[in-house]
Amino acid sequence: MGRCVYGTAGGRDLRTLCNCAALLPRLKELTADFMSAELRDVCAMDALEDMRLEIDRAICDEPPFSVREGGILREGYSEEVDRLRNVRDNGAQMVTELEARERERTGIKKLKVGYNKVFGYYIDVPRSAGLENVPEDYIRKQTLVSNERYFTQELKELENTLLTARDRINELEYQYFCEVRDSVAAKVARIQASAEAVSRLDALCSLAEVAVRNNYTCPEVDASRELHILEGRHPVVEQTLKDVLFVPNDTYLNDADDRVAIVTGPNMAGKSTYMRQTALIALMAQMGSFVPARAATVGVIDRVFTRIGASDDLASGQSTFMVEMNEMAEILRHATASSLLILDEIGRGTSTFDGMAIARAVLEYCADRRRLGAKTMFATHYHELSALEGEVGGVRNYNITAKKQGGTLVFLRKIIRGAADDSYGIEVAKLAGLPDSVIRKAKEYLKELETEGLSAPAGSADEQISFADIGADEVRRALLEIDLNTLTPIEGMNLLYELQRKARA
Ligand code: ATP
Repeated sequence: MGRCVYGTAGGRDLRTLCNCAALLPRLKELTADFMSAELRDVCAMDALEDMRLEIDRAICDEPPFSVREGGILREGYSEEVDRLRNVRDNGAQMVTELEARERERTGIKKLKVGYNKVFGYYIDVPRSAGLENVPEDYIRKQTLVSNERYFTQELKELENTLLTARDRINELEYQYFCEVRDSVAAKVARIQASAEAVSRLDALCSLAEVAVRNNYTCPEVDASRELHILEGRHPVVEQTLKDVLFVPNDTYLNDADDRVAIVTGPNMAGKSTYMRQTALIALMAQMGSFVPARAATVGVIDRVFTRIGASDDLASGQSTFMVEMNEMAEILRHATASSLLILDEIGRGTSTFDGMAIARAVLEYCADRRRLGAKTMFATHYHELSALEGEVGGVRNYNITAKKQGGTLVFLRKIIRGAADDSYGIEVAKLAGLPDSVIRKAKEYLKELETEGLSAPAGSADEQISFADIGADEVRRALLEIDLNTLTPIEGMNLLYELQRKARA
């Protein structure tokens, strides 16, 4: 329609529109018996019969790409175009016919109609044939030694017609085509309304088809505060899995004790998939679609907010971490207690301690009913956050299981209550094909870190930990060295001042 309105649509575009419109009566017929308001609207749509007939009458079945080179109009649409096409295609025949007629009229048997580039078409009469028989309406064109050449009004017109037929055809076809295109463009509002109805039907049919084909269930959408999914699946991931079955999982969130689900588990376990499926099921239920689950109750959810994956936006001068924080800020600004938040590994884009601190603060903010108290799913590799269950109201730990079997990692994909104990990051890196030497080194470093009591990886995180520890150690040592029995109040004040200074450093 855009092309029609801007005058850039070609014959093929109009033909496509016409072919589509030809399907509308059948769609109306098929939806005639349905009772739902959505489908009644589709049934009541304008079938655009007049537009279809108009295009069909004018445009041939397989129009060329170009609109200025003819061949677009159907035969019978314009008498003039048909006549000119006839002239173009039968030019030689018409010249022969004129020649025969002139021989007959003049009785000059040797009369011929010829053509050359300089003089165009002419009637050639040999002097020997007797110029006295040449009729009066012959006009002399060229005199040769033994021939005289003429033209007549009729020959002039025929010449004109033959030489200009092609140009004229193209011109006329374009003109008629534009008339049809303009007429279609003038119907834009009607056509768009029908297109809208068809697109709605298309969407509904697609939802119905996947529901039947993939065994979806009709969710219960109510005014409760619960989101309860039994054996939910991810509608896309379950379709892309080859050779393995998708493992369904339950979800339960409410506005009381199950507000925030912290989801831990090894890399590749399926945390993102699980959280996304929850959001998709909530969304699909609100759309009026069936959902990929055995049963689902979806209460009030005013919006779904997600913070998933990280992609930097260097073009606009934002780093990965900055993008993550911007999005998080946006979510916390707009979410309400009725929102569903899907937060995937918040804080992973910075040093471990900073990241963990941000993650914890965000989590507490989401859980706190005085601030937000929204239903939140929070995937993280910071296993330390699991300690928040019991400490912060409404927080529950979940993890997705995996187990080591014969040296390899087996993902069970099942979500269970409780926190995960291991990330198996190095195992997953091995599965991904990192060189053996790198894996070996990583294991050594991990062991070192674990014996030092640090679970953090390398880099700035290390520095932060050691600085903090050094400060704490010094303060502790100084405290233990104090002899309380001999300490005067003034000395005590000085010492306290010194300790505070060290603690601040
Ligand atoms: P990471 O912590 O590394 O980001 P993750 O725990 O978020 O990983 P996902 O990205 O959700 O893991 O899942 C990894 C892959 O596992 C998916 O691409 C999918 O192929 C498979 N998978 C996830 N969930 C299931 C499931 N329930 N059943 C079967 N396969 C699944």
